[in-house]
Amino acid sequence: MNDLARNPPGDHRIRATAVGGAVRALAIRSTHTVEEALRIHGLSPVGTAALGRLLTGALFLSADLKNATDSVTVQVRGDGPLGGMTVVAEPDGTVRGTVRNPVVDLPVTPRGKLDVGGAVGAGTLTVIKDLGLKEPYVGQVDLRSGEIAEDLAYYYAASEQTPTVLGLGVLVDASGVRQAGGYLVQLMPEAGDDVAAWLEERVLHFPEVTWLLEQDLGPAHILDLLLGDPDIRYHAAEPVSYRCPCSRERMERNLIALGREELRQLADDPEGIRLECHFCDRRYRFRQAEVRSLLANPAPGGESHAQEEA
Ligand SMILES: [Zn+2]
Repeated sequence: MNDLARNPPGDHRIRATAVGGAVRALAIRSTHTVEEALRIHGLSPVGTAALGRLLTGALFLSADLKNATDSVTVQVRGDGPLGGMTVVAEPDGTVRGTVRNPVVDLPVTPRGKLDVGGAVGAGTLTVIKDLGLKEPYVGQVDLRSGEIAEDLAYYYAASEQTPTVLGLGVLVDASGVRQAGGYLVQLMPEAGDDVAAWLEERVLHFPEVTWLLEQDLGPAHILDLLLGDPDIRYHAAEPVSYRCPCSRERMERNLIALGREELRQLADDPEGIRLECHFCDRRYRFRQAEVRSLLANPAPGGESHAQEEA
């Protein structure tokens, strides 16, 4: 694979296997993805770092999805001032997210870092994988530090029994997001204790992701440096981006899913209904006549679905 194929410009993720198959790795550049989240939500610097890390982390999780209709949702619920974040990633490399309080401001840590852990607080991290089965897969762990990378690594180890090292970073300056990205390395079941010790040693003194991105190193360069394996094997790089798939039709389905009783009450309002998507801030307006027509002609299957939901 030539260098341009391994290191394309723009946001992307790249997967690799190394150390004779004992290690699987993934690295991401998500600068524009996080910048888009900042633009949509008007995030403060610490909000940008927190949501940006979670968006990037969800792109690791979605890399394992098999079918086009699968999705993964990651919820962080903490007692800090951010008040919780939700991120949804799809297998095509798109991701979207929302945070309850986007404009949290906290003093930097003694080391001069944005205090993501303080903004998130203590709480839980929940991963919900919708794999098209009757029930979604749900895994939950307590937050370790609220710094996101450590929390996700703990989730992989505790919930998926996969030893994982993970780095995430978002560098914010006055003009916006300078750099964002991350790496993940997992030990395959055949990896011995020697590989685990070797990896721990490699990660210990490894520079921060955003510093590496600042040096104009792409995701594959970062894995080259981290693993130092000349026989590392890369898969094709995949673009990643911030995208919300909401639409008027989806909003109609959501309204119908509220159930007949609630919809009838909403239809009484001569002003109609205004809905706002939490992930992209797009606004949808339904006039009273339109709400009434939803009531009169629920979408096929809508009625029974609404009953189940009620
Ligand atoms: Zn939306």
